[in-house]
Amino acid sequence: MKPLLLLLLLQVLPAAAAETVDIRLFSLHKKSAVYLETDGPVSVDGRRFSGRTRISVRGSQVAMDGDLKAGPVKALKVLVSGHAWLSGPGLPRRRYSGLLTITAKERFLKIINSVPLEPYIAGVVTGEASDLSHPEAYKAQAVAARTYILKHLRNHSGEGYHLCDSTHCQLYTGDGHVSHKARAAAEATRGELLYYKGKPAATYYHSICGGRTALMTSVWPYEGKPYLVSVKDGPPGRPYCAIAPRFYWKTKFYYTGLTRLARQAGWILRDEEARSLRVVRWGVSGRAETLEIRTQRRPVLVPVTEFYHGIGRRAGWQAVRSAYFSIVAGKDYVLLDGKGNGHGVGMCQWGAEGMARKGFKYQDILKHYYPGTEVKRD
Ligand SMILES: [Zn+2]
Ligand SMILES: [Zn+2]
Repeated sequence: MKPLLLLLLLQVLPAAAAETVDIRLFSLHKKSAVYLETDGPVSVDGRRFSGRTRISVRGSQVAMDGDLKAGPVKALKVLVSGHAWLSGPGLPRRRYSGLLTITAKERFLKIINSVPLEPYIAGVVTGEASDLSHPEAYKAQAVAARTYILKHLRNHSGEGYHLCDSTHCQLYTGDGHVSHKARAAAEATRGELLYYKGKPAATYYHSICGGRTALMTSVWPYEGKPYLVSVKDGPPGRPYCAIAPRFYWKTKFYYTGLTRLARQAGWILRDEEARSLRVVRWGVSGRAETLEIRTQRRPVLVPVTEFYHGIGRRAGWQAVRSAYFSIVAGKDYVLLDGKGNGHGVGMCQWGAEGMARKGFKYQDILKHYYPGTEVKRD
């Protein structure tokens, strides 16, 4: 091979490798069989097929029944030229395209979907930005999602794919419901990433900050980022995200209920009762940082992130929607009077929508939430 050609290939390969992403489908479901339906020709290991079939585990291999019998084989490769729907008992029915590589892992199916990067980003943006409507807010979301995805491509590197389809990596429900706006935003920002000092930024985002974003290190005890600081979200008294429905929230906890939850979470002992709840430490963004539950015997300190997750898992994620709350004590209850929704770190999605409606462009929106960063095409 001529040296010049070799050099050209070396330059092209890394970029080309990132053009397709391998997503593990139904990563939270353990299933030994799925149904596959198609609306056009599909090629299975080089043979054409269309219609409906069942794919199942046979020992350590997989097989396909129905009109097109295939396997058992170690890996079934299904190339979808139109669309294919995967479904089954206890599984949501979802549409996919691209290449499906199906193998067996410990008696269950392992389905990996290889999809081109930009359509995948459009799919992710559809799910993440479903509340938004302005095109500039969609573009900000597309750049944030693309940067997040590329930074996390090694999440499952030891398992033979890039990302899973659950919120562990990035929620992906197929390409059946990709919105026109998400597709347009991905296309308009194709290849653009958010950089901080030459490196892709950690583009965390959340639904509603409540007027001020949270400092990263007060939410997660990881190493902080200079651009994940607490940002005031708009002019005094008029935050950009104030247009969000349910900007404010209020939740009442009777002490009997709080006692039950606090016992289940292990904050207090079985014979203790929660008799008061208050904030004993506030963070720099105005959010609660440490809470104190008083029982008949002692005060118990609970970090607010633990409270948020502990209550969320047991009473639902709507009960305590953010750490941005104050507590009002009643006779036999406490009232949490809160603002916002989500962890508060990075971009406020409803704030991005508010800024877009005020005429800001997506580059300005991203700079506002991630100070010191810039949008660049890679
Ligand atoms: Zn994952
Ligand atoms: Zn906000």
